[in-house]
Amino acid sequence: MALIVQKYGGSSVGDIERVRKVAQRVIEAKEEGNQVVVIVSAMAGETDRLIGLADQITEMPNGREYDVLVSTGEQVAVALVAMALESQGHPARSFLGSQIRITTDGAFTRARILGVDTERILKELEKGTIAVIAGFQGIDGEGNITTLGRGGSDTTAVAVAAALKADYCEIYTDVEGIYTTNPAICPEAKKLSKISYEEMLEMASLGAKVLQSRSLEFAMKHRVPIHVKSSFSKGEGTWVMEEDEQMEDVVVSGITYDKGEAKITITKVPDKPGVASKIFSAVSEANIVVDMIIQNISAEGYTDVTFTIPQTDLNKALEVVRKVSQEIDAGEVRSDSNIAKVSVVGVGMRSHSGIAARTFSALAKEGINIMMISTSEIKLSCVIEAKYTELAVQVLHEAFELGKTKR
Ligand code: ADP
Ligand code: ASP
Ligand code: MG
Repeated sequence: MALIVQKYGGSSVGDIERVRKVAQRVIEAKEEGNQVVVIVSAMAGETDRLIGLADQITEMPNGREYDVLVSTGEQVAVALVAMALESQGHPARSFLGSQIRITTDGAFTRARILGVDTERILKELEKGTIAVIAGFQGIDGEGNITTLGRGGSDTTAVAVAAALKADYCEIYTDVEGIYTTNPAICPEAKKLSKISYEEMLEMASLGAKVLQSRSLEFAMKHRVPIHVKSSFSKGEGTWVMEEDEQMEDVVVSGITYDKGEAKITITKVPDKPGVASKIFSAVSEANIVVDMIIQNISAEGYTDVTFTIPQTDLNKALEVVRKVSQEIDAGEVRSDSNIAKVSVVGVGMRSHSGIAARTFSALAKEGINIMMISTSEIKLSCVIEAKYTELAVQVLHEAFELGKTKR
């Protein structure tokens, strides 16, 4: 008998028929002798709909009210799943994040989970009741509802699994597992049977939204094995787990892309100590996370600085940067949202050379210009024009022969 946390994403509970199917799957796992705790996301499209409502009221909604609004999608879904379980003869109870006491910090719209109180869940398990818990939401120290950022139900699931010391966490979604790249834009994408925490964390941070990146931070820290699989078919999906020796034999395990960033360039920045610190302190004080940064070689005491930030923060960032650039006597501030970041990821990159050359030549062959580059031990990212995203992903997928991957 295993203790399993199952998470069902938006498309898995997209309509009432699917809600019934979810209930059947939960019951199957229970009838096989397992203990099951269920985490549910809002029905497909519902979170977007709620955000759309807020957008109609104001461009910059108050974070607290935004979270009260967007967390409601999950409340509907947990109630429906619990009802479906009951109607099929299995006692079930739905719970909101606040009822379980999933505590978070107070950073509305992107809160971090600080703790999960297991008392209530354990009580239900003892009684043989299935606890159906709302994903994506928690409660801060002052009793406010918070949400965990888009895709946050994955993190709820892994955090609950970690707190319960569950045997593993199953993530049910609309694809059969984790692929070498997003199968929606690359038909040659191949399903992986396993991937290391570190690689998947990198892939998720670089745009593979099949798992929220924070869920992997939890999984890695608490050693929770994750099994990503389809809620529409049976069969093995992909295990996200500790790295093993075999994994390093594969040089690159996946290609990701992210169209969600924008770049800002400040021209004619005086090249002297303290200037970069002024620019980036101001950006960070505005709570904006900077990703890549490049600075040109100085010419006549001036340099250009370019950096990327989330597109959603562009207006706020421009406001801040224009102000600092005046203070430091720099030139123009320019921005561009028409960019995408494509990345190649793999633990094998630690021990294999030539990845950069292969990446650049594959892009060059298609006439794709590289605007920015960044590397780490297990990834290489290039910023390109957004219109080339799909093409870039496909040629890189081919250049690294990922269609033939053996994992
Ligand atoms: P859910 O609603 O179940 O949480 P998401 O839409 O958040 O589902 O995540 C699943 C989607 O992630 C897939 O439909 C797929 O298009 C996308 N995706 C992106 N990269 C990958 C990848 N490498 N492997 C699998 N799916 C991916
Ligand atoms: N419903 C939330 C979202 O759409 C959380 C999730 O799906 O994981 O982002
Ligand atoms: Mg998701």
